[in-house]
Amino acid sequence: MSQIQQNFVAGRWQAGDGVTENRNPARPDDLIGLYAKAGRETVDAAISAAAEAQPAWAAASPQIRSDVLSRAGDIILARREEIARLLTREEGKTLPEALGEVTRAGHIFQFFGGEALRLGGQKIASTRAGCEGDVTREPLGVVGLITPWNFPIAIPAWKSAPALAAGNAVVLKPAELTPACAHVLAMILEEAGCPAGVFNLVMGSGSEIGSALVEDPRIAAISFTGSERVGRVIARGCAEGMKKVQLEMGGKNPMVVLDDADLDLAVDACLNGAFYATGQRCTASSRLIVQSGIHDAFVERLEARRAALVLGDPLEPQTQIGPVVSEAQLQANLDYVRLAEDEGCDVLGGARLDRPGHFQAPALFLCATNDMRSSREEIFGPCASVIKVADFDEALDAANDTRFGLSSGICTGSLKHATAFRQKSQAGMVMVNLPTAGVDHHVPFGGRKASSLGSREQGPMAMEFYTAVKTAYSFAG
Ligand code: NDP
Repeated sequence: MSQIQQNFVAGRWQAGDGVTENRNPARPDDLIGLYAKAGRETVDAAISAAAEAQPAWAAASPQIRSDVLSRAGDIILARREEIARLLTREEGKTLPEALGEVTRAGHIFQFFGGEALRLGGQKIASTRAGCEGDVTREPLGVVGLITPWNFPIAIPAWKSAPALAAGNAVVLKPAELTPACAHVLAMILEEAGCPAGVFNLVMGSGSEIGSALVEDPRIAAISFTGSERVGRVIARGCAEGMKKVQLEMGGKNPMVVLDDADLDLAVDACLNGAFYATGQRCTASSRLIVQSGIHDAFVERLEARRAALVLGDPLEPQTQIGPVVSEAQLQANLDYVRLAEDEGCDVLGGARLDRPGHFQAPALFLCATNDMRSSREEIFGPCASVIKVADFDEALDAANDTRFGLSSGICTGSLKHATAFRQKSQAGMVMVNLPTAGVDHHVPFGGRKASSLGSREQGPMAMEFYTAVKTAYSFAG
């Protein structure tokens, strides 16, 4: 029996009320580990510890916060190969993809190590003679972070690092499906010298302990990434408790391919955006909106590349596409494949593979229209609709005709169309001749409409969420 990995509360590793089995989605007989489930009392203890530790952390020299975060980044980078293997085993993305994610997490900690020293303010001339106005930023207190399974180290990193840099204390609840990377992150923050109680990890189910974080009055703010359905529940809970809230949710991201696109580049961008990381990226290209003149050549070339994708154990070097994260997610994807067929699409691929593990062939839904349910609802698997349009205006309309607004892309050789798309796309992130997924770690990340609520994550703008503004007036007399 393997040892039970524990929750991290008040600087101590603590047992829980039950155990979650963390299994490899490519080989369900591979038990990665047993992870302690936190009960309500453990969550309560974590919030108490955070509330106690936060004032000293906020009052400490910013250099101390900077050093802890930079050291955490260095440790992540030094251990990246080993953490990437763990990530691949628990989430199922390929080893190079996992290595990219872990590297990004390391760089994020290093970046916010610098930001801890750059937290500035503003001096404003007062309209009253002899008066001075100062605008400063202060930490919020204790923040609750609730994260999904698809980026099990990068998302905990991009929430924890700015929260800690600003002087907050953190209680992190990772997805129950992928606790291992968050557990490693807690160990690394402990090793990096994070004081007891400043960073706490509670593992377990969202409906039980995630909601306990949302309901607790000692939590000043919640930053959440996950589905729109849970995001709405959290938004309501935060409104009730008058908490600051930041939600990053789903997408139905369009990639437009115009007649004048470089065909090879467009096929590469769409293959990557739609299917890499098994389509389990909130920025995945799930609607390929293709102009009629290039449509048939594009589909022929993309289908040849799709059919040649190598599926398999993501630890193997030749594998391009790993498994779907869980049996439940695979069944949901297969339901969407059936729906697309019922709606009249010509479906290529999409079947479950006859082998152990949660494997599904990537799918193209040809002859799709933008009003089909399969073109409107987020699937979160390796499935992309191909929607034929007559011209740029129709493509832009279809791209924007969605409840979501996270990422969008266009492949074109025309500066005029690229510029118009950048200006008129109703998305938080716009890509020209690049996949809709794949972003830098040091610039703002987030969307519009049902994809995001609240201020941006990542880059210097991330500090906006984790701080409160104070305006002070002084009169020297
Ligand atoms: P979920 O919304 O199911 O879960 C996200 C987190 O919320 C998990 O930790 C979950 O815990 C927790 N949770 C569930 N119910 C509650 C509740 N009632 N109160 C508080 N917390 C709760 O999302 P998934 O994990 O399935 O992730 C996939 C989704 O995430 C997709 O929609 C995807 O688009 C989105 N996503 C968005 C990104 C973005 O930046 N826009 C980036 C990555 C993913 P538990 O796991 O224990 O249920």
